[in-house]
Amino acid sequence: MGTHVAAAEQTSAGTAAQPDSPTRTGLLIIGASQSGVQLAVSLRALGFDEHITLLGDEDHRPYQRPALSKEFLQGTVESESLIFRSNEYWAEHNVDLVKGEYIVGIDKEADGSGVAHSSSGRQFPFQRLALTVGARARKLEIEGGDLDGVLYLRNADDALALKARVGDARDVVVIGGGFIGLEAASSLQKMGKNVTVLEFGPRLVGRAVGEETADYFLQAHRARGLDIRLNTSAKRFTAAGAAGNAVAVAGVELQDGTVLPAQIVLVGIGVLPNTQLAEQLGLTVDNGIVVDRFALASDGTTVAIGDCANMPNPVPGSAPGERIRLESVNNAIEHAKVAAYSLTGRREEYAGIPWFWSNQADLKLQIAGLCNGYDQTVLRRDEARGKFSVLYYRLGQVIAADCVNAPLDFMAVKNALAKGQNIPAAAASDPATPLKTITTDS
Ligand SMILES: Cc1cc2nc3c(=O)[nH]c(=O)nc-3n(C[C@H](O)[C@H](O)[C@H](O)COP(=O)(O)OP(=O)(O)OC[C@H]3O[C@@H](n4cnc5c(N)ncnc54)[C@H](O)[C@@H]3O)c2cc1C
Repeated sequence: MGTHVAAAEQTSAGTAAQPDSPTRTGLLIIGASQSGVQLAVSLRALGFDEHITLLGDEDHRPYQRPALSKEFLQGTVESESLIFRSNEYWAEHNVDLVKGEYIVGIDKEADGSGVAHSSSGRQFPFQRLALTVGARARKLEIEGGDLDGVLYLRNADDALALKARVGDARDVVVIGGGFIGLEAASSLQKMGKNVTVLEFGPRLVGRAVGEETADYFLQAHRARGLDIRLNTSAKRFTAAGAAGNAVAVAGVELQDGTVLPAQIVLVGIGVLPNTQLAEQLGLTVDNGIVVDRFALASDGTTVAIGDCANMPNPVPGSAPGERIRLESVNNAIEHAKVAAYSLTGRREEYAGIPWFWSNQADLKLQIAGLCNGYDQTVLRRDEARGKFSVLYYRLGQVIAADCVNAPLDFMAVKNALAKGQNIPAAAASDPATPLKTITTDS
């Protein structure tokens, strides 16, 4: 994602903060991606004037991930357009961007200060610490899993490795019918590949959406020519060439013995939050780094946000004590704002309603709210216009919506949730009725 190195940017071969004379930064942000970048930007917007070090292990300048399975994979956007901020921005805002340093250990004092140690032997002393370490791809541990061409898609290097192989591949097997798998499968199909998606479970997209939406996506993708196999798992990956010296993947053997040809296998079976540093620090960890409403971890000084954090469900009206770990751009941004307030001594809770998008072929899904615990759904389907929405209700109150190619429905539900309003179920089922015209004060 570009190679230019400016004043504010250091690589692992950089000269600042040498092991023998490390300078203490005001805030060390470990993880230079969506939430880490937003935290630094929000802090400057709030007037935080201490030095910030934004450190990450990747060799690229911080970039937006969503395009990796979509436009970037398809080659319709350049890597430069994915970069969040210019080097000049970081320099002007007194932020040192450190690339290519993986933090392996942290010594921390009760007042929140400490020293982080990287695998290259560098030390990064800090006054305050933020963990924005995100998540990593869950690995599929089956025979042949280390063959060349068995790939994952979490970061830019993964995307570059996938792109480098696509030209020579005819058949691709995508393992996992979640968002990333379906986005990449749609992109690869658009690029002329013969794509098969294997989903272990009985429906697509796991628990992130309800049954109607999962069924809709299954039918829509099949109608567009994707070969999707539910309740199907891979037994092993087979290799090309003579046994013993072959390294490239050639196929996927299913549990029933069927072998699907594959020059690329893309595994998208979910992610695991990066909690290693938090565990080493003795912070409470439970499906992510446990934080309070103000993004503070159990030591009361470290902030943890984004994909790595497990937080109280921010949706108004959610069950007391209910916790959630969200994996979305919107959450990384909103959670970073909460942490920025905390670090500047203010207490502000998560604002807004969680929302998410996923583009798969011409299917533009937007999700407002969280559908956990729904007891009723209302379907709005306009076949002629290719629009589809499901509204989720709990005790008569709308709590979420999945909207495909229906941005007005999405906006209406998102606005209603933000204002604590309702969209009565009885009136919502006619797709010709704009939802905003039937929104009521609850
Ligand atoms: C292919 C793809 C497509 C996506 N599409 C969408 C979408 O359409 N819509 C949407 O809302 N969301 C999407 N997402 C999810 C979204 O990108 C993430 O929710 C978001 O990136 C989370 O940001 P984060 O900063 O919390 O974590 P991450 O982006 O995971 O960043 C964490 C960073 O910390 C680094 N790191 C970890 N440990 C260490 C360490 N010890 N030392 C130094 N550095 C470390 C990691 O390498 C990484 O760079 C997509 C994600 C992917 C991978």
